Amino acid sequence: MTGKTPQYDVAILGAGLTGAALAGCLARNGAKVLILDSGTHPRFSTGESVTPYAAVLLRILSERYGVPELSLLSNFESTQERVSSHCGLNRTSGYLYHRPGMRQNPVESAQFSPGSLFQDGSHFFRQDTDSWLVNTAVAYGADIRQQQRITDVAVGEDGVTLSTGDGKGPVFRARFVVDTSGPASPLADRLELREEPTRLRHRSRSLYNHMLGVRPYEETVAAGDQRARVPWSQGTLHHLFEGGWMWVIPFDNHPRATNPLCSVGLVLDPEVHPEPGCSPEEEFRSFVARYPDLAPQFRDARPAREWTRTGTQQYSSKQTVGYRWCVTGAAAGYVDELHSCGLTASLQTVGALGWRLLDALRADDFAVERFSDVQELEQSLLDFNDSLVAAAFTSTADWELWDSWFQVWSLGQLLGLLDARLALSKYAENHRAEELAGLERCAPAGGMPDYPPLRELFTRAERLVRDVRTGDRDPRESGLELMRVLRSADFTPPGYGFGEPGRRHHGMSPAQTLTTLRWARSSRVPGEIGALTYEGLTALLRDRVSRKDVALKDQLTHAVAGLPLVGRPLRVSGPK
Ligand SMILES: Cc1cc2nc3c(=O)[nH]c(=O)nc-3n(C[C@H](O)[C@H](O)[C@H](O)COP(=O)(O)OP(=O)(O)OC[C@H]3O[C@@H](n4cnc5c(N)ncnc54)[C@H](O)[C@@H]3O)c2cc1C
Repeated sequence: MTGKTPQYDVAILGAGLTGAALAGCLARNGAKVLILDSGTHPRFSTGESVTPYAAVLLRILSERYGVPELSLLSNFESTQERVSSHCGLNRTSGYLYHRPGMRQNPVESAQFSPGSLFQDGSHFFRQDTDSWLVNTAVAYGADIRQQQRITDVAVGEDGVTLSTGDGKGPVFRARFVVDTSGPASPLADRLELREEPTRLRHRSRSLYNHMLGVRPYEETVAAGDQRARVPWSQGTLHHLFEGGWMWVIPFDNHPRATNPLCSVGLVLDPEVHPEPGCSPEEEFRSFVARYPDLAPQFRDARPAREWTRTGTQQYSSKQTVGYRWCVTGAAAGYVDELHSCGLTASLQTVGALGWRLLDALRADDFAVERFSDVQELEQSLLDFNDSLVAAAFTSTADWELWDSWFQVWSLGQLLGLLDARLALSKYAENHRAEELAGLERCAPAGGMPDYPPLRELFTRAERLVRDVRTGDRDPRESGLELMRVLRSADFTPPGYGFGEPGRRHHGMSPAQTLTTLRWARSSRVPGEIGALTYEGLTALLRDRVSRKDVALKDQLTHAVAGLPLVGRPLRVSGPK
């Protein structure tokens, strides 16, 4: 079969979110795309919590590649109304620190919610969002073949040959192949791309499931302990403890919910929490029972499927692009579920790969050099996320350390978010590619803007946490020191309260937004950050006023559905 004229411009292995999003962007722009998947949609998948930064990336992809469907996924209301009512609401990221045998101390908790200027995000019910994205790609002209496990990939001078069923099934030919098929990537296997051992420092294992009957955390603790500005259940909840964390991602956390499930996962440092000789269900139950304020949330919870328990889950590739091929998403490498690094990295790579690949198809030139920046991006992102998560795990040793590290990261995220939002505004006005070039340059640093004092703060924080890991520093003292450094920085927008002692909620009320806008205009603020904050926030304000991306009707429906009497007809499954 090798040597036959390719039937397709691009073959994409894996019809997950990465593969389907890329397929839509390419097909919409005239490429002849084939999506191949060993499974069939709809199918279970994890990676459900969408960060505000990932939401902006979806809008950027939508604008750049002319795929409005991607933008619908960028906020809660349009996802609910146009994609799937089975998705959940993601209004806040909550963090609660627990110690074995002790009540949770409400002072050891934090929330990051970007504020009322930002649109609410979603918890993707991946079986719905992924199949919807595949359908979108098909609507733009992509072909899909499901139940086709690719067992071999041969890259030749004139094209790529993909074999199924160990050579006994159908064979496909394409000019270029993108492998987004996850850890068992056939291309990584065929080309021996995996690093053995992985260069990644971080180590974790996880066990996860979808459950029924998980109670909202705020309903399980004494009334006096509820200090959250936004109810914990209205977003992604992270329970933290030494050497690990747990995610709680509900899909039933809003009045119009139609999905009773909640995604639950435990991620553990295997050195601190080695795998016990019992079933995953027993491990989960006995783990939860150790923490008095964690147990009630899961007392009546029942698993909706078999538990998945992984071994050490980190892996990486020494190379991610080559002549006529690219491995991306979870096929290129994997760090951890924390901070939703996976989805963000996938979307950043899709954005960077899409236009380069379209250019290469037009020129009929697939030289590796055309894609070397994509490799640079993927590899640096993997390393950045590795450092980020390794530091986060180390900082679970002490609340003060976690809190200060978390605030440094959140500050970077916030400024990155404003930067991306601003780039989107400019691009939407003139459609000049250079408006997005800066973002591509910042992507290897997790999207943190290229503002040296911010990058230095991040590096300093990371070094400090590393010293804790090696035992050269005390965790608590390091946390307090880091908080002092953060407090003295002159570029932290005041509304979010980063570095403010005792501040547990990092998000802005309308009044704090005004204070921050005034701050951004004042002469004591570094010019770049003042301009970024002011222009970024005003771009968001214009969005909210113009309601360009969220139909007013959708917003009103969801707002009214929560009201006691008038909302009743709009609720699908009664009040939560
Ligand atoms: C437990 C867990 C929790 C996570 N939580 C989050 C989170 O909250 N937020 C976040 O941002 N990220 C999270 N991530 C990361 C996120 O899930 C991934 O980044 C994202 O799902 C990757 O999507 P994908 O399309 O690259 O891969 P997938 O969704 O895994 O899709 C891969 C597809 O390839 C197909 N396939 C596999 N082998 C073959 C083959 N040989 N031939 C053909 N097809 C094949 C599979 O059937 C599958 O459909 C999590 C990851 C894990 C493991």
